[in-house]
Amino acid sequence: MSGLAESFAAVRQRIADAARAAGRDPSSVQLLAVSKTRTADDVATLAALGQREFAENKVQELVAKAEELAHLDLRWHLVGQLQRNKATAVVGTGAVVQSVDRVSLVERLAGVAERAGTVAEVFVQVDLGGPEGEAAARGGVAAELAPELADAVAEQPALRLRGLMAVAPRGEEPGPAFARLAALSERVRRDHPGAVELSAGMSGDLEEAVAAGATVVRVGTALFGPRPLASGAGP
Ligand SMILES: *Cc1c(COP(=O)(O)O)cnc(C)c1O
Repeated sequence: MSGLAESFAAVRQRIADAARAAGRDPSSVQLLAVSKTRTADDVATLAALGQREFAENKVQELVAKAEELAHLDLRWHLVGQLQRNKATAVVGTGAVVQSVDRVSLVERLAGVAERAGTVAEVFVQVDLGGPEGEAAARGGVAAELAPELADAVAEQPALRLRGLMAVAPRGEEPGPAFARLAALSERVRRDHPGAVELSAGMSGDLEEAVAAGATVVRVGTALFGPRPLASGAGP
């Protein structure tokens, strides 16, 4: 097996083990491959192994790879912060926007999707706290404001609310943070029963996320190896 085939199998095994340990069906957890800073060739290699869902944290990189690999029929997700002036480019790729964290962005995405005659799928990104400044860089709406933002998404006919997304804060055990996210998700689902997805967990904490109920885990490093430090592609 190639290195990527091996790590792909290992990550899928980790997800399956975590699901079984939590008494869940492994097929209830979707693997999202985070391909930021990787080449289109890396994505194509993983696609050839059967992976369909990929994520980027920069619009430009997402658009470039989506165009270059259009023949592969992949599904793209944006997991990084989105400026309003780039909404058109993202919606044009049909990407799922997992980083919706403010009303102005909801309105902009809805307007763009409506004009394009499509329905854009979105997640509300929640800030789970952590060191000051980190949240600002990472994005996310404060937990107490998340239900309101979910309402704003649901009011838009051109948007479909899939669920919540979050990154565990640094310097804290991920388990309790994911438990707070899961409680919030339950609350949002009372008003929006279709918002069933919970996007949480990365290479270092996917087990804790699956235990808390994650339906989507976003994995980069454990699939592709460490990213170049200078890429500025954190977290
Ligand atoms: C980079 C990134 C990931 C993947 O992180 P790894 O630790 O490389 O698995 C997941 N989610 C978001 C929002 C990211 O920016």
